[in-house]
Amino acid sequence: MLIPNEKISEIAQANDIIDVISGYIQVKKRGKSYLALCPFHQDKNPSLHISQQKQVYHCFSCKAGGNVFSFIENYEHVTFIDAVKKLADRAGIPLVYDSNSPDISSEKSRLYEINKTAAIYFRNNIRGLKSNEKKFVTGYLNSRGLDKKTLEKFGIGYSYKSWDGLLHHFKEEGVFTSEEVEKSGLIIKKEDSKDSYYDRFRGRLMFPIFNEYDKIVGFGGRKLYEDDMGGKYINSPESKVYSKSRILYGLNFAKEKIRFYDYVILVEGYMDLIALYKNEIENVVASSGTALTEEQTRLLSRYTKNVYLLFDSDTAGVKAAKRGIELLLESGFDISIISLPFGEDPDSFIKNNGKKEFDKRIQQKMSFIKFIAEYYRKENKLESVEEKTIFIKEMIGYISKIPDRIKRSLFI
Ligand SMILES: [Zn+2]
Repeated sequence: MLIPNEKISEIAQANDIIDVISGYIQVKKRGKSYLALCPFHQDKNPSLHISQQKQVYHCFSCKAGGNVFSFIENYEHVTFIDAVKKLADRAGIPLVYDSNSPDISSEKSRLYEINKTAAIYFRNNIRGLKSNEKKFVTGYLNSRGLDKKTLEKFGIGYSYKSWDGLLHHFKEEGVFTSEEVEKSGLIIKKEDSKDSYYDRFRGRLMFPIFNEYDKIVGFGGRKLYEDDMGGKYINSPESKVYSKSRILYGLNFAKEKIRFYDYVILVEGYMDLIALYKNEIENVVASSGTALTEEQTRLLSRYTKNVYLLFDSDTAGVKAAKRGIELLLESGFDISIISLPFGEDPDSFIKNNGKKEFDKRIQQKMSFIKFIAEYYRKENKLESVEEKTIFIKEMIGYISKIPDRIKRSLFI
């Protein structure tokens, strides 16, 4: 297979060397440069230097070096052509040509395009709102502090309260068939019909969900209307480009800052994350309401091994935190807890107390053991001997999850 040079430079440009290498090993930012433990020799101190500006890596110890393609060749032990194919696939750049539309021939890249088209449509809907719908939606946006800048930053839009707004839009554009759009989950086939479809998201605030490379893989739609019988949030179903367990909302926006500060704040929902962003705290990702998965912890560990969990202190929040803690401990993370007063989420807390108070909470972060102890104390579960025994058993359960023996001995 002969790949033209222009194609190769297009693929190189779409695959930032820091991102690619971070997919394999942990990369840390030090000043302007990036450092990692060299995977090509037994490295004890980070000797692998990566230059984002020059898009090259170099090991000062074993002299390994090269560009993004040679890293894949050497790390994966594959040929140059296979490295090119791999990175083309990663960026959604098709190598096989379709004479009609060369840029969107593969199924994955067409799904990305469909999601992008929908995101632009949803964005424009906010600008084009009229009369009552306009009054209602802008009222909601104002009440949640979602200003223009925030909408732009996160690509937030609106799906009309209609059964076929998006469906019509795709038909008018004529680039994608309804069958294709259905695969993205944005429209649903009517049960009793062969080729009739309707919109999945109707009358909802639309949050595009990005993967860590800025591609839109799905949407979260927040309920706005009382007569909407669906849940508070509806998400796109799983598709060829969207796997819920592998996505951390906001990672694409936050990854540089996470690497820079060497810790990440993990929140529950989109609105929590946005509240922090508006207060210039940007090393934050959201698990979007689901329990943390192993894939998500693996994703995070490319950027840092330090997680601050931010949860409101109601019982549901604490329980969610406990599950997350176990998984993170198993993956070797250092965990701290930022707790907020009962009934407060990050959004309401900052609104009521200001950013300074919130920064204080971050500084007063608690180790996870202390957090669990506080939880038991508050729930009055440490009165009797039996209760204390249960507590100690639970503690040992957590600590036994820590894979690193030395770290574990520090807790015992
Ligand atoms: Zn080396």
